[in-house]
Amino acid sequence: MSKILNEFLSSNLQELKDNGLYNEINMVRGANGPVIDIDGKELINLSSNNYLGLATDEKLKQAAKDTIDSHGVGAGAVRTINGTLDVHVELEETLAEFKGTEAAVAFQSGFNCNMAAIQAVMNKEDAILSDELNHASIIDGCRLSRAKIIRVNHSDMDDLRKKAKEATESGQYKKVMYITDGVFSMDGDVAKLPEIVEIAKEFDLITYVDDAHGSGVMGKGAGTVKHFGLEKEVDIQMGTLSKAIGVVGGYIAGTKELADYLKVAARPFLFSTSLTPGDTKAINEAVKMLMASTELHDRLWENGDYLKKGLKELGFNIGNSETPITPCIIGDEKTTQAFSKRLMEEGVYAKSIVFPTVPRGTGRVRNMPTAAHTKEMLDEALEIYEKVGKELNVIS
Ligand code: PMP
Repeated sequence: MSKILNEFLSSNLQELKDNGLYNEINMVRGANGPVIDIDGKELINLSSNNYLGLATDEKLKQAAKDTIDSHGVGAGAVRTINGTLDVHVELEETLAEFKGTEAAVAFQSGFNCNMAAIQAVMNKEDAILSDELNHASIIDGCRLSRAKIIRVNHSDMDDLRKKAKEATESGQYKKVMYITDGVFSMDGDVAKLPEIVEIAKEFDLITYVDDAHGSGVMGKGAGTVKHFGLEKEVDIQMGTLSKAIGVVGGYIAGTKELADYLKVAARPFLFSTSLTPGDTKAINEAVKMLMASTELHDRLWENGDYLKKGLKELGFNIGNSETPITPCIIGDEKTTQAFSKRLMEEGVYAKSIVFPTVPRGTGRVRNMPTAAHTKEMLDEALEIYEKVGKELNVIS
């Protein structure tokens, strides 16, 4: 074993622990539903991205089982060799219909989508304007592209206009992109897409929206871009299949030419084995369900509004959330972690989120109510929040 590696690992781990930045990983026994079992204790689960409760849906499970019987458990190859199965083609057609675009390309994860598409479209002669609160996979995708990365203050349209003007008028870059989350996962706020599209038109920016947390949640389920009716304006829409859709994977939706190009230029498409057939069929089933009915979406929003109102009335700082994602912003990292730990001891699983996931000093416990929660569960969670909040002087 390398001595240098051992020293590196132990000093880094110790530093994280000393600064309250070391996140313990909890193992969930069984399914990730509205109530989860951790260490034999049942907890109300407010930390899952399974927004619509589809991860355990019977129809989806059956679709996966049937497809495992007919297609096996693995796709067998990357998409460009012979890993493009009938179920993948079917899913991509369904996704394009769902998003209101000409085409869609499925990837193995949402993270992979951002690795794939940003690098395929942008390169070192280009610049990317990127919202400062964008997800880590966007940041990594931008870095991989080797384009100049220009951070834009969070949802600050004046800053975007100023930096778009500077970048385009400098004549230094061949293409300029603006990339943003559709729904910001740590705060639950929504990107100002109508203004973004106007600025993009003015400066001929390529627009890229990562709608990992908006799909299934915004636009009656179809996402943030559709919520604003901008399907024909936003160039590249990215979404995950692991959150509201309940399975795993991601997709890029846009024009047919964009899809054709990604299929020859996006490295995870070319060099990583495609989604498993069972998952793919379950995803297809989920997307079709969302297109057929808004029932789960409506229940999600009802539960989100209920929890949000309750936490606000108790005196918690829930920030500027415009979606069911509801942070309780605590600030100090150590208090945030202690808060989350006490919630867990009392029966609520709401994970602490600290630096580097969010900026230093803005530690929070993030709540993700889902369509699968009952009012009784939410009431119980609120009672526990009140107790722990008073105990740790987070509320008075
Ligand atoms: N983008 C955003 C905004 C996300 O929140 C996430 C998931 N945390 C991803 C991309 C990656 O998606 P996935 O988990 O499906 O890989």
